[in-house]
Amino acid sequence: MAAPTVPAPAPAGAPTAFAATAFAAARSRAHGPTAALWHAVELHRPAGEVDGACELTLCGTLARVSVDEPWPTEARDVCVPCVVLSRSSAR
Ligand SMILES: [Zn+2]
Repeated sequence: MAAPTVPAPAPAGAPTAFAATAFAAARSRAHGPTAALWHAVELHRPAGEVDGACELTLCGTLARVSVDEPWPTEARDVCVPCVVLSRSSAR
């Protein structure tokens, strides 16, 4: 009887398979005094899988991913923290 093969745990801080982080634009809903804004969502899955899904944005909001909208977006109603965070993580 062969011993079960246990995959070695990835060391903490190991680089991911993705060379560059891709972002998608996501539209949040208007919430009280906060207007609906475009946020950035880090793409960990193929864009086709997250289209229309609610994902956690860079600034920590839940927003619906719209892969039709490019990121960085040309829209004026953009979440500023998301712009800053996406720029600082893209080198
Ligand atoms: Zn945001």
